[in-house]
Amino acid sequence: MTRYAAPGTQGAIVSYESRYDHWIGGAFVPPARGRYFENPSPVDGRPFTEVARGTAEDVERALDAAHAAAPAWGRTPAAERAGVLLRIADRMEARLEELAVAESWENGKPVRETLAADLPLAVDHFRYFAGALRAQEGSLAELDEDTVAYHFREPLGVVAQIIPWNFPLLMAAWKLAPALAAGNAVVLKPAEQTPASIHLWMSTVADLLPPGVVNIVNGFGEEAGKPLASSARVAKVAFTGETATGRLILEYAAETIKPVTLELGGKSPNIFFDDVWAADDDFRDKALEGFAMFALNQGEVCTAPSRALVQRGCYADLLDAAVARTEAIVQGHPLDTATMIGAQVSREQLERVLSYVEIGRKEGARLVTGGERAEYTGEMAGGYYMRPTVFEGDNRMRIFQEEIFGPVLAVTSFTDFDDAMATANDTPYGLGAGVWTRDMATAYRAGRALQAGRVWTNSYHTYPAHAAFGGYKQSGIGRETHKMMLEHYQQTKNLLVSYSPKKL
Ligand code: NAD
Repeated sequence: MTRYAAPGTQGAIVSYESRYDHWIGGAFVPPARGRYFENPSPVDGRPFTEVARGTAEDVERALDAAHAAAPAWGRTPAAERAGVLLRIADRMEARLEELAVAESWENGKPVRETLAADLPLAVDHFRYFAGALRAQEGSLAELDEDTVAYHFREPLGVVAQIIPWNFPLLMAAWKLAPALAAGNAVVLKPAEQTPASIHLWMSTVADLLPPGVVNIVNGFGEEAGKPLASSARVAKVAFTGETATGRLILEYAAETIKPVTLELGGKSPNIFFDDVWAADDDFRDKALEGFAMFALNQGEVCTAPSRALVQRGCYADLLDAAVARTEAIVQGHPLDTATMIGAQVSREQLERVLSYVEIGRKEGARLVTGGERAEYTGEMAGGYYMRPTVFEGDNRMRIFQEEIFGPVLAVTSFTDFDDAMATANDTPYGLGAGVWTRDMATAYRAGRALQAGRVWTNSYHTYPAHAAFGGYKQSGIGRETHKMMLEHYQQTKNLLVSYSPKKL
C-alpha cells in the first residue's frame, strides 16, 4: 500500500501551478477580462489552484489560433500525424504516475483507478488512433469505363470539444485522439470542476504539437461553452455531459447547421438471471463484483449500472451477498492505493446525491445499506465522501428513473425474460447494460433486446479503444472510441472524373 503525498507538499510527485491561464496558440494566455475562479480538491475541500474564467473573447482568440493551425495540420502526411500521436502516448506513459495522482487529487477518484485504468486507457487511445489513421483509405467507384468517382476523407477543420469532470483526462483523450488523427485543430473546454490536470497534461505534451492545433479555454458552461458551441467558426461540436445540457448544445449548433455528437447521461440496468446463483463459485464471485460496480468511480460514470434487476428465484440470496460485497468496498483517501472509493467531485454533487437519498426514502424505497456521508477527521474532514448506498424499490420511482451520478444503486426483481427486458428498457436513457447468465442463448437474446449502445455480457465497465461506445434514446447521438470516429471527424470529398475523350 502506498499513500502519495498531496500535490505541492513534501515528497509529492505532482506540483500544480498556483494559477492556470488558457492555452492558446501554444502558450498560456491570460483571460481577456482578467477573471479567475478557484479550483478546490474534493479530497479536502480546499482550493489548490485558480483558473482563468473564459468568455466569448477568449473563445474567439482560441478559434483564431485553431484556424491558423488547421490547414497545415490537415495536410500533414498521415504517417507524420500518427507519429505525433504515438509520441504523445509515449510521453504520457513516461509521466503516467504523475498524471494519475494529479487526476485523483483534482477529481477525488482513487489513484488505483487512475493508475490502472484512466491513464493507461488514455495512452492507448492515442496509440489506437495513430494505427487507425495509418490504415484508413479512401475509395473509388468505376462508374463506367471512362468515369471514376473518388472518395477522399478530409478533415472538418476546427472542431469544438466540451467535456465533463468525471474522467477528465480520459474524456479529453477520447475526443482529442480521433479529432487530431483525422487532421483537425481543436478548441477544448474542460469542465469547471476539473480544469487543472488537463493543463498539466498539456504542458507535458505541448512541444510535440504545432502551436494552435490544441487550444484549451477554461470556464463555465454559459460563459465559455455556449459561445464555443454557437460559433459559426466551428465545424462540429463534440459534447459529453448531462442530457439537459446536450439539448442546449443541439439548439446552439442548429443556428449554424453543424454536426453534433452527444455523449449524455444514463440509468443503466445490470440484469442477473437465476442461473447465476446456481453457477460455480468463481462465476458467482464475478457476478457479485459486477453488481458492486455501481460504486466504481464513486458512481460518477455515465454507464454506471445504477439499477440492478435480479430474478425472483435468486433475489434474496444474491442481494444478501451483494450487500456484504458492497459493505466491503474500501473507502478512504483517494491518494492511498488501497482505496476503492474516494470523494464525490464537488460539494454540489455530494448534496445532489444526498438529496436523492431523501427522495428515495420519501418514495417508500427501502434503504438496505449506506445512505449517508462518510465522515473523516484530519485532512479529509472537508472532503466530499459518500457511502455506497443500496435501495430496494420499484422501477417507476425517481431513484430508478433519474441519473443520480453517485454511488447509489436501486434494486428490483423480475419474473422472467420479458419482464426483465420491459423493466430494463423502461427509462428515457439507453447507454449501457449488463447481462449475467451462463445461458448464452438468454445472453444473446437479452443483448439484442436491450435498448442500449453497449451491452456487457458477464462483464462490466471495460472501455477498450476498439469497441464503439455511445447511447440509444436520450443518452446521445453518435459514438466515441472505435475507428469509426475518424469518419465522425471528417467529411467526404467526392471527385467525379471523366477520362473520356468523347464530348458530353
Ligand atoms: P454538464 O452537462 O453539467 O457539463 C459538461 C460540460 O458542459 C462542462 O464542461 C460544462 O461547463 C459544459 N456546459 C454546461 N452548460 C453549458 C452550456 N450551456 N453551453 C455549453 N457548455 C456547457 O455535465 P457534468 O455534470 O460535467 O458531467 C456529468 C454528466 O456527463 C452526466 O450526465 C454523465 O452521464 C455525462 N457523461 C456522459 C458520458 C458518455 O460518454 N455518454 C461520459 C461521461 C459523462
